[in-house]
Amino acid sequence: MDVGIVGLGLIGGSLGLSLRHAFQQVSDGQRLAELPGRTDRHRVLGVGRREEVCRAAVALGATDEASTEMSLLSSADIVFVCTPLAVIVSIVEQLAQYLSSEAVITDVGSVKQSVVAAVSPMWSNFVGGHPMAGTADSGLEAAQLGLFAGRPYVLTPIATTPPRAVALVSAVVNLLESRLYQCSPEDHDRAVAWISHLPVFVSAGLISACLGETDRQIVRLAASIASSGFRDTSRVGGGNPELGLMMATYNRDALLRSLYAYRQECDRLIVALEQEDWRTIATTLQQTHQARPTFVADP
Ligand code: NAP
Repeated sequence: MDVGIVGLGLIGGSLGLSLRHAFQQVSDGQRLAELPGRTDRHRVLGVGRREEVCRAAVALGATDEASTEMSLLSSADIVFVCTPLAVIVSIVEQLAQYLSSEAVITDVGSVKQSVVAAVSPMWSNFVGGHPMAGTADSGLEAAQLGLFAGRPYVLTPIATTPPRAVALVSAVVNLLESRLYQCSPEDHDRAVAWISHLPVFVSAGLISACLGETDRQIVRLAASIASSGFRDTSRVGGGNPELGLMMATYNRDALLRSLYAYRQECDRLIVALEQEDWRTIATTLQQTHQARPTFVADP
């Protein structure tokens, strides 16, 4: 089987490293046998937009071959589009000229509704996807073997998505040892607004609010004594600005819904504080203490 990757950055590079590793594992023979195409040879073919990145991808072991030319992927059974959201549709347009009509295209974009709506009419064997894994860094140099292991990987097929295409993407994602989920693109975008996009905006708001303290001496003191609590709560708001802007642009409606609800919750707590309503505050903190493990488990 030939797997293509377009966009050799953090996600594309990590995908290549992890798939090549899986292809080399003898113990994966059973899972590899389920894949289409040639069973005696499994390759990862990468397309980047710069020659030096292509050379680095091969040197790093993220791809068997890499090129700036999309034609490299003409033999691909499946292609993962791992570019920024803004160019996914135009990449699929270009890919369509080179792929066999049987080939499956999937993407890794962090927002699904707009991508799935635009790409599905262009390529019937398209399955939207989103690995729920990443780091604060970007680019091929940040790529990690095993980035997706144990992490959720969401597929967002729609009524017209061929089951065979979903089965193929699922089989390849299983090689990454991810936890596979399926839902509609709409549900995906609403869910990630809560657990991924709202946290970025809340965290960014936290950092902005701290900077708004007018007494510079207090700001300096706060910065000197900030520790693990501030590190945890400011991490996503202090991350890659392009990713935050992408969330706002492509998932505006769901993010706004979540932000309005969050503002309402802040207002409720402010009123409780103003009124010294310690019972409401205690009850709220008791409930959030109990609810947190529903979303995340501490390592
Ligand atoms: P990244 O590290 O910046 O990698 C993006 C890659 O796409 C780079 O190699 C870049 O090439 C390439 N690229 C940009 N424009 C291109 C174009 N017009 N044609 C071909 N290649 C192009 O970003 P990333 O974090 O891997 O994100 C990629 C995708 O993964 C995004 O859609 C994002 O929503 C999704 N995602 C990200 C995370 C995360 O935490 N980072 C998690 C899940 C999903 P150059 O090297 O030349 O710049």
